[in-house]
Order: sequence, then C-alpha cells, then structure tokens
Amino acid sequence: MSKQNGKSNNTKESSMSAKNDKQEPAMHNDCCGLVAGALNNRPAWAPTKYLVNCHVHLGSGPLLQELAPTFHSAADWGAFRTGQPETFAKAVSEGAVDDSAVLLAASEKYGVTHSIVQTAPGKGTCNELVLDAARKSNGRFIPLYRPEAVSNAAARGTLGLDYGDEVSKVVRQIADELASPAMSATRGVGEIVPITTELHPIKISRDMAPIMEVLKARGDLSIQFPTGYSGWKGVHYYIYSPIWVDEIAANFPTVPIVLTKMGRGIQASYDACLSVAMRNANVYFDMTDTTPEHLRAAINVIGAHRIMYGSDLSTMASNHAILDILRTCIMARLSAEERECIAWKTANQVYKLGLKG
Ligand SMILES: [Zn+2]
Repeated sequence: MSKQNGKSNNTKESSMSAKNDKQEPAMHNDCCGLVAGALNNRPAWAPTKYLVNCHVHLGSGPLLQELAPTFHSAADWGAFRTGQPETFAKAVSEGAVDDSAVLLAASEKYGVTHSIVQTAPGKGTCNELVLDAARKSNGRFIPLYRPEAVSNAAARGTLGLDYGDEVSKVVRQIADELASPAMSATRGVGEIVPITTELHPIKISRDMAPIMEVLKARGDLSIQFPTGYSGWKGVHYYIYSPIWVDEIAANFPTVPIVLTKMGRGIQASYDACLSVAMRNANVYFDMTDTTPEHLRAAINVIGAHRIMYGSDLSTMASNHAILDILRTCIMARLSAEERECIAWKTANQVYKLGLKG
C-alpha cells in the first residue's frame, strides 16, 4: 500500500535488477548517493539534460527548519500533527521566512535543474515570497500561485469548512487576484483542495469555475489537486477519492489538471486518479510518493508523457524527498524515453518552460 512497502520489497527488485545490471549505465557522479548501500544492485537513474521538480513548497519557520533532520519519510510528516500535536501547532504558527537556500542545496545535490515552486501552508507564507525567490533564483524557480485563504485554512484546520468568508466571495477574490498584473509571472495554481463546502462533483465544479475560467483565459495554465492523504486536518474525502476531478476536467478540457502524488501509493486513491486520467486527456500525474508499481502501471495506461517528476520538497522534507522519488523512478525501470518525459518533457509542456532538448 505505501511507498515504504514499495521500497522495502527488495527480493523482487534485487532479482529483477541482477538480470539487467550490465545493460544499465553507471550512476553519474553528479547525482551523488544513488548507488550507495542497498541500491547498488539496482539500475541507476541516468542523468537527463534537465530534471524538473514540479512540486516544491517554499517558506518555513525556525522550528520546522530545526525539526527537518528528524523527518526521514513522507509518512513521518503525515504522522506529525497527531503524534506531536503541541509541537505541530507551534511549528505551523511560526512566521515563515524564505528558505530558498535549503531548497536549492537539496536540489543541487541530486541534479534538479528547475523547480516549480509554491508556498508551503502556514503562517507568513505568501505569493510575494515565492515570486521574490523566483526572481532571485536565476531561472531555477518557476512560481505558482497559491491562494492564501487555502494556506490559512490549512493552518487553522478549517479546510473544507471555512475559508474566512462565504465560498463564492472567496473564490471570486482568488480568481481576481490570479488574473491581476501582480500575479502575471505565475504559471498556474499550486496544490489546493477545491474551495467549496460541497461534496457533489457538479457543485464542486460550479464553485471552482471562476478560478478555472481565469486559468483558461491566461492561456490554459494548469492547476494542481492533491491526492492520497495529507498532514492537514479536514478534506480527506477530496484527496483520498479524487473522482470529483472528473467533472471539473470535463468542464474545462483545455486546462491541464495535475493530480499531485497520483494517489500517494494508496490503492483506492490511485484507482480514482487513474480512472479520471483515462477519461480526461487534460489530467496529468505528479509522481511524488507513488510506488514503483503504480508508476509503471500508470505509464502503461496513460503514458509517460502525462506523468512528471515531483518530490513535495520543502524544508521539512529536504532530508529525504528528492532522493526518495528518484529511487521510485529507478525501481520502476524506466526506458530512456519514459525517463525523458518524466524528468522534464511533461513538465516542460504543462508549465510552458520553453526548455529545449
Ligand atoms: Zn505538496
């Protein structure tokens, strides 16, 4: 079920890789660490010209930066809110600062050339922080817009219940901000659960329509919806079973929708993601926290040209995220063509990066 199961299932992996070891190129030194330890029987990730990480969160407070070395997996973060409620509450209520240096150092270590960056939920993160970091990054960070009403609701624990005002007013204000000149550098909307208190897909799509209309008007920019599970209180229904996306994808067929984490290794959530992607050509997957088995099956069904590398990098995941997802790619035994799509070509298209091969 979980990524951890995928990682620890070494028997099958070892026998598979033993057969093919000699056909695979050795790990390039630039992507240090991947041939170490238990991975040295596995084929390596051959470096591609670009490696785009489509899922990066910027902004964190001092306590999270201090705790980062204690998070060794996505599951550690997932359990943090209920395992250490007081520390969690303190960590997410601290004012966030620009932590670009931490993110860039983690990216450089594993050969990530470009990161699609959005705010981390929590106090003090804002779109200006992301836009500012992108301006200073020499083209390494590409900014996404993320409504502060959603980040604030996540920090307050009111996602799906209360976004600070009547839903229609909040959505209108977000749509106007997204269309404003101040946000013109953003390349789409980052991870958000639908801004609604409805459960019916038709009503969810109706509530989200103003935001989708702006994305369409801005030249079909994309939007990310999280799937699987999250560390935040509320809205588990929407992310666990993203069948509701089917309606919104069909109503806005030219707007790319990125299902981040493609079910996050949870079978039922993955099945929902896959059925929605099969029915809507504008639905893409970000492979953060998936399993090698799910990645391989998704490539076989919708194709690698609809899947992109993402790691949910943030300061608290800087200790493990990028490498974890590279391992999943390695274990899924990508062909050279699949690797090119997942490493950068799909993201290049969806986020209009203009990278040349
Ligand atoms: Zn994320």
